[in-house]
Amino acid sequence: MVGQAQTIEKLKELGRNLWWTWQPGVISLFRELDPALWHETDHNPIAFLQKIDPSRLIKQAADMALDSRIDYAFRRLNEYLENKASWGAIHASNLRVRPVAYFSAEFGLHESLPIYSGGLGVLAGDHLKSSSDLGIPLVAVGLLYDQGYFRQSIDSNGWQQESYLNADPDLLPIEPVLDKSGEPLKINIDTHSGVLQAQLWKVEVGRINLYLLDSNVAANSASDRALTSRLYGGDAKVRIRQELLLGVGGVRALHALGYHPSVLHLNEGHSAFATLEMIRWKMETESVPFGEAAQDVAAMTVFTTHTPVAAGHDRFPSQLVEEHLGKLREELHLSYDDFMGLGRVYPSDMNELYCMTVIALKLSRHANGVSALHGQVSRRMWQPLFPNKTVEEVPIGHITNGVHVGTWVAPQMRLIFDRHLGVDWPEKMRYPETWAAIDTVDDAELWETQQVLKARLIDFVRNRLVEQAVKRGEPEAAKAKLGSALDLNILTIGFARRFATYKRANLVLQDVERLTAMLSSIDQPIQLIFAGKAHPEDRFGKELIQNIVKLSRDSRFEHRLVFVEDYDMNVARQLVQGVDVWLNNPRRPQEASGTSGEKVLLNGGLNFSILDGWWAEAYDGSNGFAIGTGQCNSVPSVQDERDSRDLLKTLNEEVIPLYYKRDMSGLPREWIARQKSGFRSMAWRFNADRMVMDYVQNCYLPAALGMSCVMPRS
Ligand SMILES: *Cc1c(COP(=O)(O)O)cnc(C)c1O
Repeated sequence: MVGQAQTIEKLKELGRNLWWTWQPGVISLFRELDPALWHETDHNPIAFLQKIDPSRLIKQAADMALDSRIDYAFRRLNEYLENKASWGAIHASNLRVRPVAYFSAEFGLHESLPIYSGGLGVLAGDHLKSSSDLGIPLVAVGLLYDQGYFRQSIDSNGWQQESYLNADPDLLPIEPVLDKSGEPLKINIDTHSGVLQAQLWKVEVGRINLYLLDSNVAANSASDRALTSRLYGGDAKVRIRQELLLGVGGVRALHALGYHPSVLHLNEGHSAFATLEMIRWKMETESVPFGEAAQDVAAMTVFTTHTPVAAGHDRFPSQLVEEHLGKLREELHLSYDDFMGLGRVYPSDMNELYCMTVIALKLSRHANGVSALHGQVSRRMWQPLFPNKTVEEVPIGHITNGVHVGTWVAPQMRLIFDRHLGVDWPEKMRYPETWAAIDTVDDAELWETQQVLKARLIDFVRNRLVEQAVKRGEPEAAKAKLGSALDLNILTIGFARRFATYKRANLVLQDVERLTAMLSSIDQPIQLIFAGKAHPEDRFGKELIQNIVKLSRDSRFEHRLVFVEDYDMNVARQLVQGVDVWLNNPRRPQEASGTSGEKVLLNGGLNFSILDGWWAEAYDGSNGFAIGTGQCNSVPSVQDERDSRDLLKTLNEEVIPLYYKRDMSGLPREWIARQKSGFRSMAWRFNADRMVMDYVQNCYLPAALGMSCVMPRS
């Protein structure tokens, strides 16, 4: 019994640090103990270990040589945590005493911690994981949403239904932060409508600590207790109170914990109030006036903007701002007008709303977009803020987003890298030479690996479809049909993302006749897998989903067009690892970066995309497929029509023929050449290690040293 208690204790400890989420060996350790329970608990080791049957654990432990595997995993975790020879130890040592403070309203770390909605959160999660791998001194701040983002199901009319689950803190990888007397540490924010209080939770992401503020404390009113219950769930008042907690509360939390950051990184404008609290703190502790403190804070602040879509920038009426920040404003010794002016492009325009992006741009000296094209678009968009500068001179650069390789690459593909790129490829993934070795991989080996991944995906989708049908109470015959959807030998195209209008999920469906012909072609058919959530308030997005779901239930498309419900990091992982082709067709230039296609390329899938975001700088003619030539039109319907035509043309004339062109041994040699070209030309650039290194060298170090921005611009 002692041995068993120890085993569980050790497993629990492994499950507490999210390091396990990018360790295939540890993941399989959990899964093998009880595959069904692992699935049922949403891959959450904490819930899993609470529910697992002790007798099963004993039996499995004996069968699996569990003790030695646990000891091995443990040793690796401890070596990882203590490793002093990291890239950051050499290149970011200036940040060691006073780390980078990274603020984000969402973090996508794993499906079992539902505090993210989409790309922004996943990017923040990947940023933390690479910062951990690289040994960057960084501490992160976010909010704990106890109901998270919604879970999606589709009813029998094809309409999206949302449900919210109350997460049990005991089942999350979070620990309460206590003060010296062992009581939960509390943060207070005084506003004109009362005091807002929050407690803190800590999440361990490898070597990085993430602190989450949570307003669900006894001292708060009922409505304030619910303030952080849902991500992007409330009206403007909820939103500004959440952002007050994140920014002002976040800086207070760091100070209370003894952190004195040398850099503030605002991941999106949501956290821009952090600059104001930092200024207040400097005025108080250094006895300097507002102007001087503001300059110092701007010098240490890095701001990343994430979208050119106007609705993606939070704006608040002045009264709401005064209600919440009036007390802070008084401490900053600013007049009402001067304070409101900080959030406006034209400070004296009383009708202009207070914009979080504007204040972030004014109070940071290092600002960037998330791809080269997005940098350009942002300079144009915000030029009015810099009336003395031309568009080219606007001080917004770019650092293109990347993805965390350990999180997104399938274990089977990792084996290929291990065998051919050299065992130390994870430390060298940002160099082109590392990936040049992909040419030494045998075509058949690469192809077979991809077939294995595709078969896994098909299996996953079938199970999901059957589960969905069971929930809807569909008859046996319908379930049986769904259980044989999709075919391993057919060109498989994935499309999964938020159903935001500009992402145009229905672009491929514009010509249903032609699509029908392509799906049911005898010798060169295609099949389509869709997934994604529409924002609960977005009727149009829900109609798009309904259209797709209706087509998936149309007998002409049976087995060849499916919609997978409840897109999250788990569904994303399955899709990006198993598809042949990843379709992305945003209305250029509205996709700031996009990152899902980067996950696909790392698994050998080919991107088939509009030249927007990251793809505009990645595509070289041989490493995937482009839709159109990067033109825009001021009339959206004209642009949509042309893009839809170009999409079908490239699909029919290039993508499909290339996939089905086989040699004597049955291999699509030219297709495989494109996959290899994809790895060679892109893997070293579009990973999060490269991204974080760029932030360190171009932003964090200059910001910490009070130097001016050295961000790339093109
Ligand atoms: C990667 C990812 C995204 C972002 O992908 P885009 O290409 O930017 O749409 C969104 N949601 C999930 C669950 C992801 O894993």
